[in-house]
Amino acid sequence: MILAEINVHITPQEIELQRQTINSIKLSLSGEKRYAMVETFGCQQNVNDSQRIEGMLLQMGFTLTDEKDLADVIIFNTCAIRENAHAKVYGKLGALKHLKAKKPSLVIGICGCMVQQEQIAKRIKSKYRHVDLIFGTHALWKFPSLLNDALEHSQKVFDISGEGSIAEGLPVNYDGGARAFVSIMYGCNNFCSYCIVPYVRGRERSRSEADILSEIEYLSKNGVREVMLLGQNVNSYGKDRGETDAFAKLLLKVCEISGIERIRFMSSHPKDISPLLLHTMAAEEKICNQLHLPLQSGSNKVLSDMNRVYTREKYLEIIALAKKLMPDIALTTDIIVGFPTETEADFEDTLSLLREVKFDSIFSFIYSPREGTRAAQMPNVSTPEEIDKRFQKLLDVQNNISYERNLRHEGNIETVLVSGRSKTDPDMLTGRNYANKIVNFKGDDSLIGTFTDVKITKAQTWILYGEKL
Ligand code: SF4
Repeated sequence: MILAEINVHITPQEIELQRQTINSIKLSLSGEKRYAMVETFGCQQNVNDSQRIEGMLLQMGFTLTDEKDLADVIIFNTCAIRENAHAKVYGKLGALKHLKAKKPSLVIGICGCMVQQEQIAKRIKSKYRHVDLIFGTHALWKFPSLLNDALEHSQKVFDISGEGSIAEGLPVNYDGGARAFVSIMYGCNNFCSYCIVPYVRGRERSRSEADILSEIEYLSKNGVREVMLLGQNVNSYGKDRGETDAFAKLLLKVCEISGIERIRFMSSHPKDISPLLLHTMAAEEKICNQLHLPLQSGSNKVLSDMNRVYTREKYLEIIALAKKLMPDIALTTDIIVGFPTETEADFEDTLSLLREVKFDSIFSFIYSPREGTRAAQMPNVSTPEEIDKRFQKLLDVQNNISYERNLRHEGNIETVLVSGRSKTDPDMLTGRNYANKIVNFKGDDSLIGTFTDVKITKAQTWILYGEKL
């Protein structure tokens, strides 16, 4: 297992070398129409990393495609959080064997958190010999050179070198919509006992404020109206440089950028969220009154076994302050069911906390052991059947709460940032309100990318419906 101990800033010379490689690939491809496909698994951070890979591919002259039969380069950007994410990737890699046999020039690459784990990267290297390119999260910035080695020299490329790094100045493929993700920091220092992230993404390292602000200014000039600031624990932003309250200060600076009307962020760790941050959210109109605050469990015993470093009482204190300062705040959280030491009584503590807080929605998962983490060594006190039952009960309880929370929007006039046509009902436009809830309504395409006032007429558990005013 690789753990990044050293944070390095990639030098401008190293970035320049990658830019030159991008140009030389572009030259070598000129005149030929070549396609590339990037498939992303996992979280928003991975989506943002894939946008970087796509940005580099576009600058090399590739056309992006979703059709693997058409592709000359296929990259899977993987996730390590749960076992089923691994199984999916193995299945997809296996299915490409036959495509590679038909088209030997096809370059197949796999990157991201899954292959940052040495034992997995080695397994793929030996068992999936049709894979040309394996690179970890810390080598992402070297993608042009790595791809060049695979393309030009038909080499098998393997780079999971483990130093935490920040690389600025490489292209990013923003999708052209009015919303964009902006990573403000990478890595995590928390070592929650179930989590693989600190091992595969390294220790916390914050981008400079200047780099973040100039990226957001660029986005604003190119039509972006809403930014989601990303980090494993945004409340730690700047702490690696010895700064305090740097995240709240950064938010204030982002508020000053003209054209940016909405600011969101995720994720926050309850141990690091400060009253100052909540006061800043409440005071600044551009910062949405919406907070994703991962809880994981409502039981103090389980929280301690998870190494979460807060108690249910502390969590409820934060929520009480958030609600006091922002009575309309929309709250979401993450819950793990079936942590090895979780008993029925512990699970009831989680349910009681859900009923007390009334989250707008939750992201819930059945615990999945990750090799190399502390929790993977803990014996299970519950059977899989008991855990499945708990999971179903959790969903039933939360679905009722989510519906109840959505009902409060009925009759409101809410501003929606319209993102496009609804995938499930193309007659409807779709967008998000301040609470990040999906709102569908009828309207014409000219509204896409704009803020539009919509009267909410009907609430369902996951969607709000409305009429354009
Ligand atoms: S805070 Fe905990 S759960 Fe979140 S990324 Fe860090 S170690 Fe994983």
